[in-house]
Amino acid sequence: MTQLTEIKAFSKPLIAKLAKLGISNLQALLLHLPLRYIDETHITTIRDLRAGEPAQVEGEIVYAEVSYKPRKALIAKLEDASGQLTLRYLHFYPSQVAALKVGNKLRVYGEVRSGFFGYEMVHPTSRAVGQKTGVAETLTPVYPTVAGLTQPSLRNAIGIALAQNCMGETLPANTYQGMHLPGFAESLRALHHPPPDTDLRALENKKSNYWRRLAFDELLAQQLSMRKHYVRRRSVSAPRFARSKLLVSALLKSLPFALTQAQQKVALEIEYDLTQPHPMQRLLQGDVGSGKTIVACMAALQSIENNWQVALMAPTEILAEQHYRKMLGWLTPLGIQITWLTGSQSKKEREAALANIASGSAQFVVGTHALFQEAVKFKNLGLAIIDEQHRFGVHQRLALRQKGQPEPHQLMMSATPIPRTLSMSYYADLDVSVIDELPPGRTPIVTKLVSDARRNEILQRVREACLQGNQAYWVCPLIEESEALQLATANDTFVLMQDEFPELKIGLVHGRMKPAEKQAVMSAFSAGEMQLLVATTVIEVGVDVPNASLMVIEHAERMGLSQLHQLRGRVGRGAAKSTCILLYQNKLSETARARLKVIYESNDGFAIAQADLHIRGPGELLGVRQSGVPMLKIADLERDADLLQAAKGAADYLLKHYLVEVEHHLDRWMSSAGELVKV
Ligand code: ADP
Ligand code: MG
Repeated sequence: MTQLTEIKAFSKPLIAKLAKLGISNLQALLLHLPLRYIDETHITTIRDLRAGEPAQVEGEIVYAEVSYKPRKALIAKLEDASGQLTLRYLHFYPSQVAALKVGNKLRVYGEVRSGFFGYEMVHPTSRAVGQKTGVAETLTPVYPTVAGLTQPSLRNAIGIALAQNCMGETLPANTYQGMHLPGFAESLRALHHPPPDTDLRALENKKSNYWRRLAFDELLAQQLSMRKHYVRRRSVSAPRFARSKLLVSALLKSLPFALTQAQQKVALEIEYDLTQPHPMQRLLQGDVGSGKTIVACMAALQSIENNWQVALMAPTEILAEQHYRKMLGWLTPLGIQITWLTGSQSKKEREAALANIASGSAQFVVGTHALFQEAVKFKNLGLAIIDEQHRFGVHQRLALRQKGQPEPHQLMMSATPIPRTLSMSYYADLDVSVIDELPPGRTPIVTKLVSDARRNEILQRVREACLQGNQAYWVCPLIEESEALQLATANDTFVLMQDEFPELKIGLVHGRMKPAEKQAVMSAFSAGEMQLLVATTVIEVGVDVPNASLMVIEHAERMGLSQLHQLRGRVGRGAAKSTCILLYQNKLSETARARLKVIYESNDGFAIAQADLHIRGPGELLGVRQSGVPMLKIADLERDADLLQAAKGAADYLLKHYLVEVEHHLDRWMSSAGELVKV
């Protein structure tokens, strides 16, 4: 890969500024694409100008004055054979005053507006013209830049890069021609210097085939990298687990419910994976309450019946504890040894747990992050289950995987549904199973959007619900900037609620409490000893208290949609009709309003995640995972969904027949984008 430092024409200061844009080599510079274009390829006569459209006009200055009323401004009139145009500058330098002297011949470029005295341009660019100043031959690109790097020097640098001849085709023609996409070099040239007859709108909307070619290449690079990762996994060996003959059916018989169709389908997919000699890496996704835990438990039994240990890791202590209790209930009757491991155990408990894990007498280990710490040694870990996987980083997941020898199978679960385009791109290294159906008999949650001004009514409502024997959550606002402030708010709210409802038993739970305190509060709430639980978003994941049927969320506008959906999923778990009230502050921005509308109108996690993707982009949904995954710079998963599909097919084809080309392609794209990291 040619580094910029190898090119003589590039000065040190220029290279330093390009580095600020994340550009250090030629490919990256070539792929630094324009934001928009200006058309200086022809001159419009003043009579033909149209308001709202940019234009280039040439003429003579016939009037110029610096006026001071109502505020300081430089005003000039430019005249051509067809009429006059007002030029207006609110900020200007002495050099501009000199350039706009009466009698000077100028060419100006700017957006035309309808002003008080006819057409005008505010802050147009201008330059002097002589007898033979030609017009530009191609549209002029405008690039994203940083302070100190002007458009002309960036244009010049990219011009030099284009002349270096390093835009060779990495792909066989049939991979892109089928979609009528042009060549790579042709696309780059056209995007940097579009010919005058180009459809500017298509170019700026990124719907032109030139853009699409580069988007395709980028998506293809992502697919190739993910597929390679996937293929590598097939070459690693893992323990094979025969299908369970006893334990799974014994468990299913003991349950008070039957599995849904969707649960049966994904359970079969997982069961099959576990019979294979390569490590499973499967993401099990299903909306809040769709019943992922029981499916994971079936996988665990298959492992245990084959004499391999299982670890189940959850992101919070509350959730880990809840899983532990559930597993005790389900599996103790089957004679299975379950051990519990968290950071908050006493030294003695912890040592006992570690010993059980190391000796293999613990068949099933449930815990938090504590599970992947150095000191934890498994006798034979066969399956690692990770609940709410989006809460963990890639590294944490990898660390748990390294606890097994050979590599254990991995089952990741997520209640944040992943839109199709995301699972095809960022999650392409995983297999995905989807539970797309809720167990029968759930009453849908009614969601209400209520202004904070009506808080008193809501308090009244909470009182009534609790006095009627229901339980309620009061969720305190998320304060991202400061954990201390968040804590203070939670404490204040708790005090306020106690004043407001002297007749109710009220609990408080937040992230900073000691785990034992947290557990005590959760168990009391779960057992019905408290009617109202004031909480921070720590209750977002997994918490399951069926009798809780009312939730109030303060400052709902501050939270992500998927997060709100998760929180809301804490109610509606029993047979009672449930309500979730989203309190918002009076002044809502347009976006905030649009977002709350989505959550108000939809109870479907997939639709909500799709909207989140649309409004906030993939970063929001990818969460911590983002840190280890290549982010797309050119392609957009929504706009280019068809290309994503095509790239997926092309990746398979190339990996079969064109391995050298694959390496070249990855080389170009992996080194060109700063954030593009190999996974
Ligand atoms: P999630 O997918 O959000 O993790 P859980 O696994 O916690 O959901 O399941 C939610 C609740 O539904 C639990 O109380 C669980 O026992 C129950 N459940 C799971 N599957 C079924 C089913 N097929 N029929 C009825 N209830 C079920
Ligand atoms: Mg769950």
